[in-house]
Amino acid sequence: MTDADRIADARARIDAARRVVVLTGAGISTESGIPDFRGPRGVWTKNPAAEKQSTIQHYLADPEVRKAAWRSRLDSPAWTAEPNAGHRALVTLERTGKLHALVTQNIDELHQRAGSSADKVVEVHGSMRRVMCWDCGRRAPMDEALARVRAGESDPPCPACGGIQKSDTISFGQALVADVIDRALRVASEGDLLLAVGTTLQVQPVCAMVPIAARAGAAIVILNDQPTAMDALADVVLRAQIGAALSEICGTADARSAH
Ligand SMILES: [Zn+2]
Repeated sequence: MTDADRIADARARIDAARRVVVLTGAGISTESGIPDFRGPRGVWTKNPAAEKQSTIQHYLADPEVRKAAWRSRLDSPAWTAEPNAGHRALVTLERTGKLHALVTQNIDELHQRAGSSADKVVEVHGSMRRVMCWDCGRRAPMDEALARVRAGESDPPCPACGGIQKSDTISFGQALVADVIDRALRVASEGDLLLAVGTTLQVQPVCAMVPIAARAGAAIVILNDQPTAMDALADVVLRAQIGAALSEICGTADARSAH
């Protein structure tokens, strides 16, 4: 089978599907300039201190770690990142009425910024565009806290209770949000096609969506630029550039006719 055959196979399966569940990982956002955290050029590979900032025990225990974390948040390339062709293709898929849910491991909100409905998006690792207070649970836009850092506060405390604030994302050592994970695993069993994009499918429990979907009889399509842990379960494995390939398999009619 050639690459073109595999693309055509994936496109035919998506055309035939009625309830598509999508799972996305870092690979869909790298074309927007957001680095993959664990890849060979990833943030943690280059800067082990960044991994410390992402570990909840260090973050809570050490004000210096928090100050460094706020400084690096100010500089994040994610604030100016724009959605790419891959994000837009999934908006097109939603407009066909067959998108059941869009589960993402990403924290950049680029799906919503591209136009995906917030009620379809399940953010299993939270959002970097919000802060949360570790003590009282208050959530607020990240912009509010970053403005205080720019104005000179090195570790801005919660305005409600004075507690420690952090990005509303799941740090290492921090429990996942049970309701959110339950929803992700439930929707996996409800579709007739599961499309996994830009993830190596190694992070539990989210990667269990693939065997859950397969057991429920769904077709499995995996699109990633490198092998994944679940390729053996897939009906179609596409090893291709993500934005272009997604545009072809579920993007606009224009993108399809150009093929
Ligand atoms: Zn608080």
